[in-house]
Amino acid sequence: MKIHEYQAKELFSEFNIPVPPGAVARDAEEAGKIAEQIGGSRWVVKAQIHAGGRGKGGGVRVAETPAAVAETAKEMLGMTLVTPQTGPQGRQVRAVLVEQGLGIKQEFYVGAAVDRARQCPVLIASAEGGMGIEELAASRPEAIVREWVDVGVGLAGFQARKLVFGMGIDVGLVRAGTGIFAQLHRLFESLDCMLVEINPLIVTQGNQLLALDAKIEFDDNALYRHKALLELEDTEEQDRLELEASRYRLNYIRLEGDVGIMVNGAGLAMATMDLIKQAGARPANFLDVGGGATTEMVTKGFEIILGDKNVRGILINIFGGILRCDVLANGVVEAAKKVAINVPVVVRLDGTNVKEGRSILARSDLDFIVADSMADAAAKVRQMMS
Ligand code: ADP
Ligand code: MG
Repeated sequence: MKIHEYQAKELFSEFNIPVPPGAVARDAEEAGKIAEQIGGSRWVVKAQIHAGGRGKGGGVRVAETPAAVAETAKEMLGMTLVTPQTGPQGRQVRAVLVEQGLGIKQEFYVGAAVDRARQCPVLIASAEGGMGIEELAASRPEAIVREWVDVGVGLAGFQARKLVFGMGIDVGLVRAGTGIFAQLHRLFESLDCMLVEINPLIVTQGNQLLALDAKIEFDDNALYRHKALLELEDTEEQDRLELEASRYRLNYIRLEGDVGIMVNGAGLAMATMDLIKQAGARPANFLDVGGGATTEMVTKGFEIILGDKNVRGILINIFGGILRCDVLANGVVEAAKKVAINVPVVVRLDGTNVKEGRSILARSDLDFIVADSMADAAAKVRQMMS
């Protein structure tokens, strides 16, 4: 689960990571009032969307008076912001963060993530803040310092110092810097995060270290331990189809291709995506209806696949085990009654009650292309998409 910058900054404050004074606004008037409350002579209005790169897309703007803050907020709220991270369709701005505009002496990159290969958290630092860390990792890996945290021991003092010296912080700020790493690690571990990024962490003209940007992603599988965090969820920012799928406990992830797939079991889903790639096409989604799928869940899954306008063909690949082939077939037929199927559908069924399943499909007078093996399914997908 991702959260907005303003929410992440509230959590930073709770964990004693310094952030600029600011607050969230949902209309122009409120934005102007916040500027007056903060005081000073420069403010920054920042679009709150679940994507970065806002600076490049016009989602971070400076204003010199509270009236200008209100005016900027008015322009931003409701607009569709396109940044290098939103994709061409962009995201609608529903809230802005108004904060003090700071003079910046230096920008660093600081982050914490899970290193899957080493199975532990990794803290990351670089003197080159602001730009994309992925690009930097690719072009100049030596510019990035990493420290892996032994989960039994926690972040050691010498590691925090290595990070701070590695990113080249002024000696006068070493203590503040190591403090930020200690807090960052505490936040990352205690809230079961997947990713925490401060990009940039800055040194202000007044020689203060501050988190100027904040990004947090929580591990969904651990959210049951943090009920309070669920309130931070912004369902408007989620993909409409993914949200719908989660309501029905369907394991659905939207992808970029055009062949919709419905499968039972995550392993079979992975194999099916490989199969589609081999057939020269690209999967539009990952959808595992699971072992205990009901007719209703299958119907819903089918509706969700068809709700994706990119889908030009569908492959249903089911190995009947706990989910019987007849239940699947009934679900597909039910779904077909509710939603117009205007794309070709290849069905490969095998396993428990396969005969019943196939005959339900045959009797349904729906126009399915039946495949009788994985290889046959691949060939038929190739034909269907060509
Ligand atoms: P994004 O990563 O989405 O582009 P950031 O919050 O990192 O958004 O902001 C982009 C840039 O805008 C920062 O690198 C910084 O130069 C500038 N900026 C952001 N917030 C402030 C602020 N409060 N005061 C001054 N400059 C800011
Ligand atoms: Mg940033």
